[in-house]
Amino acid sequence: MSYTGCQLLIRFILVAGHPLRNYIKGMIGNGDNIRFWCSVAKRIQNLDSETVLSWNWNTAQLSSDLQSSLNSLCDLLHGIQITAEADRWIWLPDPNGEFTVKDVKKLLLKETVQRNDYILEWCSWLPAKVNIHMWRSVTESIPTAKGLKRRNIQTTEEACLLCNENDESAVHIFTACHVATVVWEGISKWCKIPNIIAFSVKDILGIHKEVTGSERKKEALQGILSIVCWSIWRARSSSKFANTPVRIKNIMSEVKSLGFLWFSSRSKHKEAEWKEWCSFVNM
Ligand SMILES: [Zn+2]
Repeated sequence: MSYTGCQLLIRFILVAGHPLRNYIKGMIGNGDNIRFWCSVAKRIQNLDSETVLSWNWNTAQLSSDLQSSLNSLCDLLHGIQITAEADRWIWLPDPNGEFTVKDVKKLLLKETVQRNDYILEWCSWLPAKVNIHMWRSVTESIPTAKGLKRRNIQTTEEACLLCNENDESAVHIFTACHVATVVWEGISKWCKIPNIIAFSVKDILGIHKEVTGSERKKEALQGILSIVCWSIWRARSSSKFANTPVRIKNIMSEVKSLGFLWFSSRSKHKEAEWKEWCSFVNM
């Protein structure tokens, strides 16, 4: 890896919520190997316990700002000992300063281990990608700002792209965001079911079991709930990467059309008709 690559890595990779570089400290020895000390160490002399700083200025007169900065620097350098040993880097989490991959793993696990013991009820008539998307949404593993942070990737935008009011997480996008609430209202009306109110992605996945009606209706609804999350996520991604404005009616149209396409071709109800599907009757 290049020097710049290493710099970016230690600046942007977060370990247990902190940039990797915060865990690394340079310890001065002779000042030959750590860039800052290369030029500063030459100007430091240790006489007994005294630190003597010798400068070699191009100008005899320092401005008051420079003088004040110099005084601060001198304070910081006070007590610094230059030795004959080589400079070294120490890994702060270890009492001996020794870096081990095992230590990094421990720190990463401390923050990111979450029990993903949720078993998703697979919807048989949906493509695998939609089921997988749901599973990843339940476990907050889709690349929202929160999901990226969990993977130790620092992002500049933390707010939800759909409302710009809350932090972006799967649970927010699919349940609390105003885009989601309007879409769920439309879905409830279309499917003739009580208003969908969900507080978690898991709640969404259980709604079809609580509605009254035929098994066919419940089966259709199970898939529709996942397609809603799929379509909201697609709208969010198009907005993020292609600047396509998010339109609720487009999300609704996509849910209906993709739902019909997959339900009529992948479920056992191949006789389903578009007209019936659109008015959600005879389900
Ligand atoms: Zn939002």
